[in-house]
Order: sequence, then structure tokens, then C-alpha cells
Amino acid sequence: MRAALLSEYHKDFVVDTVPDPEITAPDDVIVRVGAAGFCRTDIHMWDGQFDAMQKGAGVGLPFICGHENAGWVAEVGAGVHHLSVGDAVLLHPMATCGYCHFCRAGEDMHCTDSFFPGILAPGGFAEYVRTNARAVVPLPPGLTPVDVAPLGDAGITAYHAVKKAIPYAVPGSSTVVLGAGGLGHIGIQALRAMSATEIIVVDRSPAALEHAREWGADHTVLAREDRSHVADVRDLTGGLGAQVVLDYVGEGGAERDAVEVLGAKGIDFLVGYGGTLQVKILEEGLFPETSFVSCIVGPYNELVELVRLAARGSVRLTSTTFPLEGINDALHALDEGRLVGRGVLVPNES
Ligand SMILES: [Zn+2]
Ligand SMILES: [Zn+2]
Repeated sequence: MRAALLSEYHKDFVVDTVPDPEITAPDDVIVRVGAAGFCRTDIHMWDGQFDAMQKGAGVGLPFICGHENAGWVAEVGAGVHHLSVGDAVLLHPMATCGYCHFCRAGEDMHCTDSFFPGILAPGGFAEYVRTNARAVVPLPPGLTPVDVAPLGDAGITAYHAVKKAIPYAVPGSSTVVLGAGGLGHIGIQALRAMSATEIIVVDRSPAALEHAREWGADHTVLAREDRSHVADVRDLTGGLGAQVVLDYVGEGGAERDAVEVLGAKGIDFLVGYGGTLQVKILEEGLFPETSFVSCIVGPYNELVELVRLAARGSVRLTSTTFPLEGINDALHALDEGRLVGRGVLVPNES
């Protein structure tokens, strides 16, 4: 098959012919890739930031990235009876065991015996990818692989935080969404579909804020160097501070904005990363009884829920497609901030 190989860090990907993946276990599934989202994590891999983690797992270069995959079932192991060749599917990023404590609790991301295509196993920047049956979400009619591939990581990550926030984002509450990019644009739409909370979106990009209203924001606030946006956000909450913050940025000062816009009993859901969270325990933690909750991707069933929202038209992805051979265009466009929406590679058209 053709695959885009990361052969050397900081060098362009090389499209070459490699052996097809093979069924190795009864629950394995081989998927013909129809769409693979190009994620910022792929840039971190291209940078070599995953080198130690990959070496620890016995994985080296050349490597096939791509962990936001959708396509059509091409082959199934002998133990897979609920999928047929040709079914259109979206893949949960983790291929899990089904037997461990966390799998039995529905906590797929914490499975103790999993493999992770695109991070620690060959991924979807190729004509075919191997996963297992527990990762496969059948697509309802009307949705194609290219419509949904980035939901498999960016989408489910954004949605998982929204799902945790819903019990607190009651009518009359204020929810501050930090970041209206790849994750934020899905988070805002999901939040709007599921809650009557007042949504306040903060971003550095005026263009992103324009779209945020279409996605469901009630208010938009431009993030500024002098941090005066914090006072603007607090004004929009009637001076009391927000009940909920969804931080899809997690660096560059957003992590501090989150603390300062929270009101009493407020909850900060941490999704973006890179920064350091500093909280004055007495003044900003104990007295207002604030909470800080970490979020990592999300469980299988939440990906099914997100696909249902997409099928209803409640969540729409903004994306730009590239052929497999165009992978370096996708890489540089994302790296240089020129990309409109999510970059999606299309190794097979249908
Ligand atoms: Zn990703
Ligand atoms: Zn497990």
C-alpha cells in the first residue's frame, strides 16, 4: 500500500510503498482509510517530541502517523461478526482490550492493554490501517469518512469536556470557552446543542470569533496582550464570574485567564496543554470552592454520541482536504497557521 512515512524528524514526509497491515488477532479490523485528520500532535511527532515515548514502546522511524481516522471496513478477524466489508466507519483512537478494570467501566482511554494507531502503532496516513473491533463506530447514512475523521480525536476530546460540564452549565449560568480553534469550534457547537448556558467565547483571532457566533456563542471577547479581556468576561457574567470554564488552550496565559474568570463554585475543565496552572489556594481555591478537572480524549460511547450530533447537523466540522501525496502541504499549512479548519488527508476517495 501507499503510506506517508515520517522518516526523519523535521524533514518532509515521504510517500512510499510499504507492506499492507495484516490481521493478527481475532478482533482485528483492517480499515481502508477514506480520511485522516492532520492534528497538532502530528507536528509534535514530526518535531521528535514523542521520540522517547515511542522508543519506550519499541516503535521507531520510519513511522506512519495519523490517529484521527475514518474509512471503510476492508477485512475483519475471525471473532468479528457485527461488521461487514464496506461498512463506513469512524475509529476511536484507542484499540482497547475490553477486559481490564477501565474497559469494563467504559473508560477506554485508561485501558491497560491497548494499542494506539498513529501514536504507538502504524496510523492512518496510508491506504489501510489496523485497529480492533472495539474502536470501530459505524457511520449512520448521510455521513462520509471525510465529514467525520477529526471527530475521532479533536472532536471527542472537545466533547468529553462538554459532557463533563453539562451538569453545571444550567440555564442562567455562564460558560467561558477559551479557544475557538480545532477543538473549540466543536466544543462550542456541542455545548450549544446540549445546554442553555450563556456561552462566552474568548480567542485571539477576530476571524475565529466571527465564526463563534454561528457556532452558538452568545458573546465573544477578543483576547488581548494586556489581559483586559478578563475584566470584559467578568462584566458579561454580571461581575460574579463564570460557573464553568472550558479551556481548550492551556498555555500562553489562557490557563491563568481561566482562574481569574471563575466565580464561586466555578469549575475549570482543562483540555489544552503546555502551560502551568497556578492557583492561590486560599483566595482562588478554598474560599470560592473552585474545582479543576482534567480531560483526556473520551470514551467510545461519547464518540457515538458525537456522531449522532453530527448526523443531526448540530456539529459541523470545518476542514480542508489534501491527497495523501499532499501531506507536506497540510503539515506546513498547519505549522504556519495558514490552514482553514482541520487539515484532512484523503488516501482513498471512495
Ligand atoms: Zn489528534
Ligand atoms: Zn482494557
